[in-house]
Amino acid sequence: SRHIVETFQAAGVAAEHIDYRMDDEERAAILKSFASGATTVLSNCALLSEGWDCPTAEVMLLARPTRSLIRYIQMVGRVLRPAPGKERALLIDHSGSTARLGHPCDDLPLTLDDGKPRVSGSKSTERRESLPTKCAKCSLMKPAKVHECPACGFAPERQNKVETIDGTLVKQSRKKPVTKVVKQHVFSQLLFLQQKRSYRRGWAANQYRSFFDVWPKGLAEVAATPTQEVINKVQANAIAFAKRKEAGHAAA
Ligand SMILES: [Zn+2]
Repeated sequence: SRHIVETFQAAGVAAEHIDYRMDDEERAAILKSFASGATTVLSNCALLSEGWDCPTAEVMLLARPTRSLIRYIQMVGRVLRPAPGKERALLIDHSGSTARLGHPCDDLPLTLDDGKPRVSGSKSTERRESLPTKCAKCSLMKPAKVHECPACGFAPERQNKVETIDGTLVKQSRKKPVTKVVKQHVFSQLLFLQQKRSYRRGWAANQYRSFFDVWPKGLAEVAATPTQEVINKVQANAIAFAKRKEAGHAAA
């Protein structure tokens, strides 16, 4: 959080860091300054994820990855509150959480989980317990979360364990729900290509799956002239198929 703030400040942006080590007065002053607009970037780690409300906040930089859907929704919720004159919120996700957990306004899962940790998430560092550590100077076992050694006063330099990688931000649009009319149109175009090129019967259904991830169901067997978009997609599928086949041969 401090690193982010220092980077913003170096670029001339009025940014402030806030954390639980500050006293109440200092924290209140920082929050007030942000609410008034004097501070434009307010950075924290876990402190403001829930309970804090500033409806005019409209941009969120998510730099902390999470696998928890609830924590993700709580965090993004900080910028989803309506306010007069506010038309949208912008989520700049550096954490990959949106790719993992979906759009924050998506419908929630209809089933509850059983509370057991998922096998794939067993390595999660979400709640790593704090353990006593040994003082590097006098070997005293320091209690958990104690930084400065109570015996010799040695305080190791804090190490930045935050991993960063270069990347390019891309715009993520919400998937629009596909109507049956659209599905029928695509299927009809695929039928046209299948018939014109004398492909086997299942070809159109297979291609259809590459568009919608499901088999065609309840659609009419009517052919329609294909658009360039569908022709391009079919061609891209053929190229991908040829490449996979080639890779398969190379592996063999
Ligand atoms: Zn010590």
